[in-house]
Amino acid sequence: MKNGMIKRVGVIGGGQLAWMMADAAAKLGVELVVQTPAATDPAVAIAAGKILAPVDDTAATAQLATQCDVITFENEFVDLKALSSLESQGICFRPSTHALFPLLDKYHQRCYLKDLGLPTPKFSSFPTPHTPHPTPHTPLVLKTRRHGYDGQGTFILKNQAELQATVERLQTVPLLLEEFVPFERELAAIAARSVTGEIAIYPIVETQQEKQVCRRVFAPATVSQEVVEQAEAIVRTLLDRLQVVGVFGIELFLTPEGKVLVNEIAPRVHNSGHFTLDACETSQFEQHLRAVCGLPLGSPAMHTSAAVMVNLLGYEHSTSDYQTKRQQLAAIPQAQVHWYGKTESRPGRKLGHVTVLLDEPGKKQHDSAIAIAQTVEAIWYG
Ligand code: ADP
Repeated sequence: MKNGMIKRVGVIGGGQLAWMMADAAAKLGVELVVQTPAATDPAVAIAAGKILAPVDDTAATAQLATQCDVITFENEFVDLKALSSLESQGICFRPSTHALFPLLDKYHQRCYLKDLGLPTPKFSSFPTPHTPHPTPHTPLVLKTRRHGYDGQGTFILKNQAELQATVERLQTVPLLLEEFVPFERELAAIAARSVTGEIAIYPIVETQQEKQVCRRVFAPATVSQEVVEQAEAIVRTLLDRLQVVGVFGIELFLTPEGKVLVNEIAPRVHNSGHFTLDACETSQFEQHLRAVCGLPLGSPAMHTSAAVMVNLLGYEHSTSDYQTKRQQLAAIPQAQVHWYGKTESRPGRKLGHVTVLLDEPGKKQHDSAIAIAQTVEAIWYG
């Protein structure tokens, strides 16, 4: 790898998150080289170079390193031990493997947060003598410790019988057990830290999940300043302690008592930050590349008073490109449709998203955002 100005960024993973870095890369004058398993993966089309290999193929990552100045991640399902040995040979990863070590296993991540004194749901590894549920009647949440995404690997269980059945089905996979948080809302923070330790936090957003999958994001979240301050304090502690370089997404629960708990840290750009592409002065993708390339961060401020982002999830097995629906969505005033160009649709698969900008004051704005989300979903899901 070369010293000096960064001209080529290697990205481990070639899904829609890497694909959405394309415009920012062009703007900053850097080229992307992706390591991703299939030639049909979204980011292959926008990359200057590609290595077709699984994201945990470290020999492929060593090859990637010969084609770029720095390596970053759009996917964390990597073999971190092997990458850290590449790092000790002088390959530059941003964020560094040290920042990722406490995060990739959900149990280790919870332990790390607890050690930092940051609030999380009560948890334990599983099997364990101490079940973390307050009463036998409250649900429990069982999670696979690694490789969970979009709710894959997260199970909300009503009772011990359901718990037993799920554990038997999962067999020997390492597990995390935690209390069910009866959250009032789910929030998320997208934030970046630069090489020099500068931190930029985007407006805190509200996320809405269905069946554990993100469906909509409202920016900014209509919460009190006190809640925003709790969330921002958590973000600053985390990014500073981990010495992060790049963008992180931090998923949060807001309890009925007004307390903010950390649900999960995603060490990369995140679905709850997609609104930044259309609604902020610097998108999360540009911000990430700025940080990774050692540039000063851009402003995370919104240039519109509010925005709503709706995911377009697959609802059938198909190879359609949904032209008609996409045209209908694009006709919504102030809407921007982002279509990831995937060749196959499957139920639950993220195929694209729509962001709609709003410019109305106060409570009316949130009502309008909800109505717009309903319109988008009525067009998409029919
Ligand atoms: P993933 O890694 O698949 O995103 P998460 O741990 O973020 O999994 O969980 C997905 C969703 O499941 C959350 O956004 C939330 O809606 C729900 N969930 C997860 N953990 C809990 C919990 N302890 N209490 C209540 N709901 C939870």
